[in-house]
Amino acid sequence: MTPSTRHVDLLIRHARVDDDAPLTDIMINAGRIVALATGWDGTAREEIDAAGRAVVPGFIEPHIHLDKAMWHRARPSVAGTLEEAIRTTGELKSRCDREDMLTRARRVLDMAVRNGTIAMRTHPDVDPIQQLLGVETMLELRDEYRDLIDLQIVAFPQEGLIKAPGTLQLLEEALNLGADVAGGCPYNEASREDTEAHIDAVFALAQRFSVDIDLHADFADDTADARFFATEYIARKTIETGYQGRVSLGHVTSLGSLPPAQLAPLVELLADAHIHIVTLPATDLYLGARRDTENPRRALTPLRALVDGGVNVAYSSNNVRNAFTPFGNADVLTIGNLLAHAAQFGTPSQQAQILAMGTVNAARAIGIEGNYGIAPGRLADLVVLDTPWIADALLDMPPRTWVIKRGRITVTTHHCCEIHRAHSTEEV
Ligand SMILES: [Zn+2]
Repeated sequence: MTPSTRHVDLLIRHARVDDDAPLTDIMINAGRIVALATGWDGTAREEIDAAGRAVVPGFIEPHIHLDKAMWHRARPSVAGTLEEAIRTTGELKSRCDREDMLTRARRVLDMAVRNGTIAMRTHPDVDPIQQLLGVETMLELRDEYRDLIDLQIVAFPQEGLIKAPGTLQLLEEALNLGADVAGGCPYNEASREDTEAHIDAVFALAQRFSVDIDLHADFADDTADARFFATEYIARKTIETGYQGRVSLGHVTSLGSLPPAQLAPLVELLADAHIHIVTLPATDLYLGARRDTENPRRALTPLRALVDGGVNVAYSSNNVRNAFTPFGNADVLTIGNLLAHAAQFGTPSQQAQILAMGTVNAARAIGIEGNYGIAPGRLADLVVLDTPWIADALLDMPPRTWVIKRGRITVTTHHCCEIHRAHSTEEV
């Protein structure tokens, strides 16, 4: 250790960063991890004792709609159908104002921060109905929450591009205002031809602004409708434009219906294009396979095939408490636990894969992996979990004892949950 790090801003004692290694201390200075060691004898401005608790890199939500969250009280669902969700959400969107959006989004951001989320990529709608309200509001929140969470903003044309004339210009304005990523919703067009034109337009825009791409893609139960089978086209376009590693796709559920022989070359192509797949199980499970009257499908992206094929997979909440996704508390661990059940990822190594999808894989999906993780030089964005083993994270769903953002403690919880017996244990 260099003499300049004899005094650090924050020292975390007795941290479990690896289940197979002894406990370690984590030294943090100027927002970054400077060293991992035991028995360090320097001084620290602030010190906490993890007391053997598991410490993991902060959680990441790579795909969430803050502008549409928390609408469950404004217009409670009655039928609980997709048709009703589209109708009520459209109505709420048309009369939403800035204050209402700020209030709802702040509730979700606060929940996420408390749950240990340190970065989030949000997709506000950009279209002739909402115009730039979503992007402007998210830009305001990006600044307001900058000490707690890194917010990336995707300019998201939910209503289509060709179908909603004027939207492409609005996307351009959104990027000029400071949105970080070019979004797309290519299945929401009138024909396959328009789906491809939508994808081409988003790529051209992204190249012009030199920003990453994040598309909602192939969100259906099967590939019968060609608008919902665009993954191959997107992967080829990614390679053709040199955008490998810079494209993320959300949902991608229709691939789950493909027979293995048809799926295998597509998975290989996705891996070659370094495309990140972000599965959104809360929404996909709730909305998928609605027309299946017997043996309903799981309506998820083919997780096992993608992981085995070397595709980077992450997951996210997508929506929180609206007609499309009635549940949610912006907790990455909760979504991970749901996904582990639904995708049948239950062995210890599969549980570790699920935890990675909510942390390191998600960091790759939103392009922040270079600064992320528990290692010297990386940003000190960490969560101390109230459990002794990292392997137990998805089993215990533990309280987040401390959340640390850029080396600063942002959340402290002391869930000293004691059981009070009516008799002393000696009496038994
Ligand atoms: Zn979405």
